[in-house]
Amino acid sequence: MTASLGGRELAAGLRARTAETAAALAAAGTPPRLAVVVATADESSAWYVRSIAKAAAGVGIGCDVVDLGADASTAEIRTSLHRLSDDAAVHGIILQTPLPPGVDVADLTPAIAPAKDVDGANPASLGRLAAGLPAFAPATAEAVLALLDHHGVALSGRHAVVVGRSTVVGKPAAHLLLDRDATVTICHSRTRDLPAITRQADVLVAAVGRAGLITAEHVSPGTVVIDVGTNPTADGGLVGDVDPGISAAGLTPVPGGVGPVTTALLLQHTIHAAGGP
Ligand code: NAP
Repeated sequence: MTASLGGRELAAGLRARTAETAAALAAAGTPPRLAVVVATADESSAWYVRSIAKAAAGVGIGCDVVDLGADASTAEIRTSLHRLSDDAAVHGIILQTPLPPGVDVADLTPAIAPAKDVDGANPASLGRLAAGLPAFAPATAEAVLALLDHHGVALSGRHAVVVGRSTVVGKPAAHLLLDRDATVTICHSRTRDLPAITRQADVLVAAVGRAGLITAEHVSPGTVVIDVGTNPTADGGLVGDVDPGISAAGLTPVPGGVGPVTTALLLQHTIHAAGGP
């Protein structure tokens, strides 16, 4: 029987502590504020931004959605990110993707002040993370570690296999696991014989974006599996990268696993950026 390693209880606890600190910061004259820069008409992005704004309101963090329109240029978006980076009343900045055609996210993330980079998007943040220096990690990668800790999964000396090497999830998750003394293997689309590698994992992190990529043949009975994938289904639902029928020691559900913890950590990062503990 595979244990379900849910994230909702952990997320609620994180949000409760964040709300307390947000109230204390506001009482001391620093109401915490998050800005989300949007340049797309994409409906799933709009849904995600609404959910962040709602979650922020729920813990007493102000949230400005800065909508620059789906035809915004690189220069316009960069100017907005510089303005928000210089605005003392704004503590956290998120640049929402997708961006307009021809606009490259890598040209823009360096314009987010590292002190306000609550989703670890600036390459300087990933560089600091890789160097073992304090930095905001991408919230999704940190959510992987938070879930493992919450469910009491030991990491030191154990083999963690991360499938996916993006700068937002796979690479930072691998660095965070390495920081916790796991032995880390990173797999990607060119990896040969993926099941032979993933079967060796004590902890398996799937961060690909392909429904059902990880099946019974990829998993050993003692493996703890964190499913980061979010893949929309034809009926408007959401499924992960992992076949929920696998036999493993534990598996995070989709939805209700990594997602809520990610949002809660984004809010916690904003509080830290505002000077909270
Ligand atoms: P991404 O940038 O598209 O990266 C996907 C990675 O998967 C790439 O490194 C790619 O390898 C690898 N890959 C593709 N096909 C593969 C295969 N057949 N076997 C092994 N590896 C393969 O995606 P991402 O931004 O990291 O996101 C990954 C998933 O996480 C998506 O489903 C996304 O929606 C989800 N996500 C969830 C949250 C949350 O809060 N729950 C937040 C962020 C992302 P190459 O590098 O070789 O191309």
